[in-house]
Amino acid sequence: METGGSPTVTLKKTNLTPKAIVHQKFGSKACYIVEKVQEMTQNECPGLAIIQKGPPLFRCTLQLPDFSVMSEICKKKRDAEQSAAEKALDKIGFNLETNNLTNVQDPWDNMISRLSYLFSDELLSTLHPLSGHFRAVLQREGDLSGSIPVCVMAIYDAKLCSLCKSIDPMVETNPLLAVQLVMKAAARLPGFIVSSEEHLWMRRENPFPSEILQSLITEEAILPESVQIKAVRIPYSPDKIVEPMSINVSSNGYYMDAIAQELAVKDVFRVLISRSIGKASSEMRLYSSVDLSSDVKENVKSEEYFNVRASYFSGQDIHGDAILACIGYTWKSRELYHEDVSVRTYYRMLINKMPSGVYKLSREAILAADLPVAFTTRTNWRGSSPRDLLCTFCRQHHLSEPVFSPINNPLKSLVDSLGSGKRLKVEEPGKEGTEYANGNGVAATGREPVAPGSTFNCEVKIYSKCQNLIVHCLPKNSYKKQADAFQSTALKLLSWLNTFFKEPDMPLEKLTSSGYALNIRFNPQFFFKEFALCPSVHNVWQRTVTEEIRSLDSDRFNHPCIEQGVGVSLLNIEGQDSGVSPSSGSLVCINYNISLVTKGENTKELLESNDDFEFEIGTGAVIPQLEAGVIQLSLGQFACFHTELHPEEFILAAAGDSAKTLSLLSSKACCLEFSIILLKVTEPLEDRMEQAFFNPPLSKQRVEYALRHIKESSATTLIDFGCGSGSLLGSLLDYPTALEKIVGVDISQKSLIRAAKILHSKLSSDSDAELPNTRIRSALLYEGSITDVDSRLYGFDIGTCLEVIEHMEEDQACLFGDVVLSYFCPRILIVSTPNYEYNVILQRSNPASQEDPNEKTQSQSCKFRNHDHKFEWTRQQFNRWAADLAARHNYSVEYSGVGGFADLEPGFASQIAVFCRGDNHSEGQGDDDLKKIDTAHKYEIVWEWDRSRTLSSAV
Ligand code: SAH
Ligand code: MG
Repeated sequence: METGGSPTVTLKKTNLTPKAIVHQKFGSKACYIVEKVQEMTQNECPGLAIIQKGPPLFRCTLQLPDFSVMSEICKKKRDAEQSAAEKALDKIGFNLETNNLTNVQDPWDNMISRLSYLFSDELLSTLHPLSGHFRAVLQREGDLSGSIPVCVMAIYDAKLCSLCKSIDPMVETNPLLAVQLVMKAAARLPGFIVSSEEHLWMRRENPFPSEILQSLITEEAILPESVQIKAVRIPYSPDKIVEPMSINVSSNGYYMDAIAQELAVKDVFRVLISRSIGKASSEMRLYSSVDLSSDVKENVKSEEYFNVRASYFSGQDIHGDAILACIGYTWKSRELYHEDVSVRTYYRMLINKMPSGVYKLSREAILAADLPVAFTTRTNWRGSSPRDLLCTFCRQHHLSEPVFSPINNPLKSLVDSLGSGKRLKVEEPGKEGTEYANGNGVAATGREPVAPGSTFNCEVKIYSKCQNLIVHCLPKNSYKKQADAFQSTALKLLSWLNTFFKEPDMPLEKLTSSGYALNIRFNPQFFFKEFALCPSVHNVWQRTVTEEIRSLDSDRFNHPCIEQGVGVSLLNIEGQDSGVSPSSGSLVCINYNISLVTKGENTKELLESNDDFEFEIGTGAVIPQLEAGVIQLSLGQFACFHTELHPEEFILAAAGDSAKTLSLLSSKACCLEFSIILLKVTEPLEDRMEQAFFNPPLSKQRVEYALRHIKESSATTLIDFGCGSGSLLGSLLDYPTALEKIVGVDISQKSLIRAAKILHSKLSSDSDAELPNTRIRSALLYEGSITDVDSRLYGFDIGTCLEVIEHMEEDQACLFGDVVLSYFCPRILIVSTPNYEYNVILQRSNPASQEDPNEKTQSQSCKFRNHDHKFEWTRQQFNRWAADLAARHNYSVEYSGVGGFADLEPGFASQIAVFCRGDNHSEGQGDDDLKKIDTAHKYEIVWEWDRSRTLSSAV
């Protein structure tokens, strides 16, 4: 034990400054604003301040996410910042001395001296939260006047609190241990503090001077009248619902007494207070009872009373019923601070523990939004960034801040590695990257490294509070910008964590394999320890939809492929088809209302609405049903549809009136009704570029190019490989051709639904009048991968594959070529794909970046024209692919393109290869195999139209 002497002797060289610690904790979220002040403050000496300008002095305001503090006035900027940081740390209860290990003094001595300060006359005149408690208990009459609950001492003084933690780290999870430690320290102040171990109170031996007491009484008299505070009761029994309640605090009473009464404990000293929940500076806490009948030391408590929901919230062991309330004395004022807590607040806090919930809350769209599965570009991302979401998630679960490490790959050249014909491979990343704690990334400082030709990967590690490595993620995807690599890795982790939260009792193997797919490794032992309570709290996902609810809509499905597919019933679409529709990569803006509706009685309760809600199509940024609905609309149209219910915790987090909502949910068959209006469609970058640069737009030129070949060849049958939303198939119907049968194949069901809509409306509107243009007798849409063989595609005249191969991995693109030319053997095959060399022209004067300066980042961060492109080939690469393929299958090939010119650098914008089957084509090696797979019907028919039946029918 250190016994006086020079205090500097005890300081170690390795001290972290307050600012460094603030940085560790808050990263880039800590914002220091230093201002110059004059030596004389204006209050003291207004005239002099102007005349006598002394040396400049500085004051620093430190803004943190939940509060800000102001420093002392200092001579140096640096010192002002340190002073602000120190104040902030003090405020969050971080004890520099103990946590920094700068002070080797016995924590017990510190505790004792702290306690004597807390019971001093001096404290009463400060804004220390405890002074409010002292004032309240001093107002009491009788025996217990001045007796303060030990729990209050242990909780509301941050220094005492962290001293307790330094003596016994278990205090983190068990607040009762802190009570015990404070009692023990008080016992070492005989004659100053009296305490009752049995009753858990303590007070000063000698009363406070009477003048102080007198002043308290006059002061209390001006306090406002009694208040009703809304709070929430969380019963320990998981079968009982969380209910609203109110706490009545009388004007001259002690609010803790009111809480004790609500908890039905014998007296205020048996109330156990949790740490603050939610935001760092929040006064939101859980109140429960100390069960004195059990042995406090051993904390032997009947598991029967374990309050799993309250414990999950606080990360502390809580038994019996608990009250969630936001009330207490703060450093800001002598008045009691309080805020109402509703059941909705409770559910919002609950869903804030799940990655998808954090995202939904950040978008203020609990029922509509969902955690996206893909990070395309920062400009298209809405809501908190993946990285921030991950940090929030860790904080919510009392884990350490996630550690992000960038890995720089000085890649030789993208083109080189593609030229070798191999997949773009990023070498095993070196570990030379610097480790950045959250917010400390170079990205956060604004000096984003974008070394030409080099790419970034990002590794993220999540540690427990006691530094056990829980999860590790190092995806193979590399990014041009470090910040994008960070975001994308964070999103992978969030997605994986979210699968766990959707099904917290999923088998270990399932969790492992889903992590495997995302390059995530985790330590099951530590993982399940940290998330042990999740399965019993997040148990509402299993909610099954009753048959009644299903029947509610069964007669309203009006489109065959919709019924088959995404499970949305469109009740109606209103408004003219404006022809402008969203596609994958579009940014849309909608207005929506989501209501809880009941069958029969037509009760409708509005749960959530938003009149300016933007999201990117194709990334899963909203619930699938909503996206499926939106993509069927064109600009300006209105739609209304019903979906199954969301998990109850989401509905209650959105509902303003939880009682009404709960009664609707429990008594009637309900579903959700969405009404949406499509307000704005911003097309994906690739489309915008293609439209702005080329007239007619490049997509149209491709279709026209294909049409010419279709006409010239007099083909009667056509397959469009990767038909997407049917841009080619739809256009074919507008021109006279010899085509009789057209087929589209795609893996995207959403796109196929759009294609079906277009073809359906064109074909059925034309069917009564004699079609002037088309002889088409049958049209078919298949869902499947064009790398799979399906015997029904054999022997067509012409195959088209426009802007598809670059959406597949390179080996898959090669496989596609082999499959088509060896099994399907069309007479002609037309394949188009972007010419990588043309990108410099598109990107140099990207029109999108001019209309919005933010979009610059988009074009820079995306090395290809579209984030979904797996590769873009140079002319040489494309020609090599096509020549090899043609030679292998006895086809001839010719090269062409649209946009730009063949003989002008850098060639066409879209390059095209036209393969023609050789005369002596043997239908060689594929033939035998074809017999084997003759019955193979790998594709699924999504939509079919037959002239003889003149009506579309679902199969
Ligand atoms: N050919 C269309 C769509 C191009 S977008 C047009 O020119 O407008 C690329 C399309 O390829 C998408 O619709 C995507 O779903 C589809 N696609 C990607 N990989 C595929 C695969 N393996 N099998 C079938 N379709 C695929
Ligand atoms: Mg493309």
